[in-house]
Amino acid sequence: MNTLKKAIDLIKESRLMLAFTGAGISVESGIPPFRGPEGIWNKYDPIVLDLSYFYAKPQKSWKAIKEIFYSFFDEAKPNPAHHKLAWLEQQHILHSIITQNIDNLHQKAGSKNVIEFHGHTRTLTCIKCKQQYPSEVVKRSKVPVCQNCGSVLKPDFIFFGEAIPEPAGSRAFDLAARADLILVIGTTGEVMPAGQIPYIVKRNGGNIIEINTEKSAFTHQLDTCFLQGKASDIMIQIASGLSNPLS
Ligand code: NAD
Ligand code: ZN
Repeated sequence: MNTLKKAIDLIKESRLMLAFTGAGISVESGIPPFRGPEGIWNKYDPIVLDLSYFYAKPQKSWKAIKEIFYSFFDEAKPNPAHHKLAWLEQQHILHSIITQNIDNLHQKAGSKNVIEFHGHTRTLTCIKCKQQYPSEVVKRSKVPVCQNCGSVLKPDFIFFGEAIPEPAGSRAFDLAARADLILVIGTTGEVMPAGQIPYIVKRNGGNIIEINTEKSAFTHQLDTCFLQGKASDIMIQIASGLSNPLS
């Protein structure tokens, strides 16, 4: 049996299916991933997203954060992979998406049950008085500051050294323990603790379908049903296989 057919059969048989997405699903929407030849870390030092560096040098951090996360996120549009996941939810085939991404593209595509494991870019919070602001304030100054207390504002996505936001973390781990299938799309699995999620599914007897242009740590360690290719191409093939009663 070919791998696509096996994946479609696993989806048809599943009772609680999750998707677990990483930066790779948004590459075709024009957002670069962190790693790899076109990755963000080839241009910037990851220290700009280190929490203690941000507190010590907010000007330097903010300059890079704006270029990386706010310059193109507004214009980025969901691609067919995001749209097909939204369709799977509408068909009651997909329960929830757990995403490591902070780009809002699953919601833009129409997905409702999205767990943002690393937070998001829609709002910012004052590091001192915790007043929250919409992302529009980013455009108004070089370093966004709080109107109440003058302290620097931090985006509501997590930096290195920060805890996973709640209740997103607990919900994700709880669902992973109950799922019988997880669709892992465009992630290296190197970022922890997010990378544990497919292992939890496996440990509880679930199956793993992996969609990636390259093999990852999951491919061998979890013996995934590996579909090599671009997220949009593969998701289009999966959706058409599910729509076709003969497949
Ligand atoms: P990563 O950058 O470590 O890896 C990206 C993965 O996507 C790789 O395995 C690569 O082979 C694969 N890939 C690249 N193009 C693809 C395509 N067209 N189709 C399918 N797969 C493709 O990403 P990660 O594992 O998500 O970890 C990086 C961290 O960076 C995450 O925590 C995430 O929060 C953050 N991040 C988010 C965004 C975003 O919100 N869009 C962008 C960059 C980084
Ligand atoms: Zn404040």
